[in-house]
Amino acid sequence: MQLHYIANAGIASTSGRTIPVVDPSDGQPFDEIQRGTAEDIDAAVRAARQCFDSVYSRMAPVERGRLLARLSALVAEHADELAALEQRDCGKPTRQARADALALARYFEFYAGACDKLHGETIPYADGYSVLTWREPHGVTGHIVPWNYPMQIFGRCVGAALAAGNVCVVKPAEDACLSLLRVAELAAEAGFPAGALNIVTGYGHEVGDALARHPGIQHISFTGSPNVGTLIQQTAAERHCPVTLELGGKSPQIVFADADLDAAVPTLVNAIIQNAGQTCSAGSRVLIDSVIYEPLLERLGRAFEALRVGPAAMDLDLGPLIRQSQQQRVWDFLSDAQVAGIPLVAQGTVVEEAPDTGFYQAPALLRDVPPDHRLAQEEVFGPVLAAMSFEDEDHAVQLANGTPYGLVAGVWTRDGARQLRMARRVAAGQVFINNYGAAGGVELPFGGVKSSGHGREKGFEALYGFTTLKTVAIRHG
Ligand code: NAD
Repeated sequence: MQLHYIANAGIASTSGRTIPVVDPSDGQPFDEIQRGTAEDIDAAVRAARQCFDSVYSRMAPVERGRLLARLSALVAEHADELAALEQRDCGKPTRQARADALALARYFEFYAGACDKLHGETIPYADGYSVLTWREPHGVTGHIVPWNYPMQIFGRCVGAALAAGNVCVVKPAEDACLSLLRVAELAAEAGFPAGALNIVTGYGHEVGDALARHPGIQHISFTGSPNVGTLIQQTAAERHCPVTLELGGKSPQIVFADADLDAAVPTLVNAIIQNAGQTCSAGSRVLIDSVIYEPLLERLGRAFEALRVGPAAMDLDLGPLIRQSQQQRVWDFLSDAQVAGIPLVAQGTVVEEAPDTGFYQAPALLRDVPPDHRLAQEEVFGPVLAAMSFEDEDHAVQLANGTPYGLVAGVWTRDGARQLRMARRVAAGQVFINNYGAAGGVELPFGGVKSSGHGREKGFEALYGFTTLKTVAIRHG
């Protein structure tokens, strides 16, 4: 049975209750996590505050950097163990789970190096004054993490927060706690003082809500659905607590007639099947120049038909979805599409070895999706690619920007001027030209516009969000 991790120790919830942990590959429970309470959150916030006041805020940046560097090394050393935990917990194929563990190590490595390079400025102001700015940590930061990439999302928000001098209280998703609880133990082993990193598990409407409401939390980073993001921002607004929101997307991959299709096809497919489509930045719409619509759909169809889905440990193209309700969600989208007469071009295969009790979904490619259909507007969060054609650049931009979201976009063209025009015109936090995702680079600021959220994580930019700027004006005559 798993415990909360507060002040470098495993602690049972005051509720005396637990939540079963289910393996998505066979639908069977195999462990339990604590069903946390508002009192548990309060204990974690107190431990964090104590740590911040007595130790962490007094530590030199270079010391924080050394702690993060040690944690990075420990995570890399335990990558197989962490990957195995997350594989069973979340149904991730082996290569994906291992890549996520190594990405976590990389986040800590990047932010270890950034700790002692974050500084303010001096501002030439007026005769008789010296003006300087300091970047100060918020203090106790709250982090609400989803289940799709627990290690990666934890790495990008907690890594940056700790580097900037904050201490953390983390609420992982109820479906994905195991790897993060182990990382908290590794943080203690790396030398982080008790209270610097605390993890409280449980349901969103119980502990997540308690975290967002707690007056001792001075910044909240939330990654998850737009609905919950709205609730958290409303709650935080009551006490004017700053919030970073990383929400969903309906990201377009735009393919012009002059694109290198040999390079594009595998990337277009991978951008929607990675993590079984449960990726906020999934390239879930492919917008295709009408000149190449039929031939490209044919190639994509062949690629989809070759895809295989099965138990995570088989390490196929896709593992299962996280839980039964997510599987039902994908089925609902597909049956709505069928009712609307949207043609299915191709589908992958669920292998025979996949137990009936697991949460499997064959990836699907649909064509001629009307731009106003929910399949073109809403996030499926499953391996479903919606294809539509465009006539010219203006039409492509109109379709690309025609959803409530704006997280990521991909543009495929050899025309350099068009590359830049499209990058400017598409509403998104990241635009990729002739690639998609840039292999996830931790250095690259990430976040959305419109309903995809606000604030930036990853890269150096994230450090600014985890600090507040103080201006000091000295009148010395
Ligand atoms: P979710 O919003 O249901 O849950 C996210 C987290 O919020 C979980 O830890 C959950 O327990 C917690 N939560 C739920 N209700 C809460 C409440 N009332 N108060 C406080 N916390 C609460 O989302 P999910 O199902 O875990 O993840 C899928 C969604 O997240 C998708 O929409 C996806 O696009 C989005 N997502 C976005 C990013 C990004 O970086 N932009 C990354 C991953 C996932």
